[in-house]
Amino acid sequence: MACLLEDNTGTVVAPLPKWFRQDIPDMAKIRKMKDSFRQAGLHTVCESALCPNLGQCWGRGVATFMILGEICTRACRFCGVKTGRPAGVDPEEPRQVALAVQQLNLRYVVVTSVARDDLADEGAGQFVQTIHAIRSLMPQTRIEVLIPDFSNQPECLARLTAARPDVISHNMETVRRLSPDVRPQADYERSLAVLRNLKKLASSAFIKSGFMVGLGETDAEVTELMSDLVAAGCDMLTIGQYLAPGRKKRYLRVQRFVSPEKFADYKTIGRELGLKHVMSGPLVRSSYIAEEGYRECFEKTVNGE
Ligand code: SF4
Repeated sequence: MACLLEDNTGTVVAPLPKWFRQDIPDMAKIRKMKDSFRQAGLHTVCESALCPNLGQCWGRGVATFMILGEICTRACRFCGVKTGRPAGVDPEEPRQVALAVQQLNLRYVVVTSVARDDLADEGAGQFVQTIHAIRSLMPQTRIEVLIPDFSNQPECLARLTAARPDVISHNMETVRRLSPDVRPQADYERSLAVLRNLKKLASSAFIKSGFMVGLGETDAEVTELMSDLVAAGCDMLTIGQYLAPGRKKRYLRVQRFVSPEKFADYKTIGRELGLKHVMSGPLVRSSYIAEEGYRECFEKTVNGE
């Protein structure tokens, strides 16, 4: 993972700031998690996206399942997931995920996927099957789904919300000005429309989004993005530091390392704008300590906040 600050010639101009240092993870727990995923033929976005928190999360028995294979039909310029022509949909996958959740006794699970523009329902059906499978084996487990935009197809969003996940997340990833370059096959306004429609359709779920900083955005653009999310009905938000997943030409370069103090400012602004929960920090990722966000939102809702 090329996490250093480089100039346009690729010359390293700054090492990784100290706030990225992490504790040594529980390797035995990680091996156990990895073995159970491999035995079940399952993928995790933790591995595919080279997440810096894998050690910490797996050490705590938390992982994000990636369904619908590990090859994406899109090529976002911040993402380390393989892109190309995906394989067919595995009808056994929903049950395999549910069995792994049961075997690991997970109380909170996040399910995400690559984009599958090659499928008529863009994968919405597999999400629905996976939610039902987990519920049938582990009715107490809370389920968060992090979805692609399904091209904002109303029937896909309706099917997904009807399966009643507890949290539905769709990431904006970056500010409006940078969106066409950062995620060429996605669209800023379309993603806002997806979040708005999810809010209308989902009677009980919390709506969540996430974005990265360090791609060249300004603070004013970050605030504008948070205002757009509040207007779209978003309850929860994650903000993290962009780290280049490698040196491939496709990957954008880190433009700046945002300080923990600045992340704290973003959190304050987000809360003041009306977001129920904001997780903001250099190592924060979409499903990082996800259950904490859910609990905070749930308590606030119960207390009528
Ligand atoms: S849609 Fe973009 S972010 Fe999502 S897996 Fe594909 S390339 Fe990565």
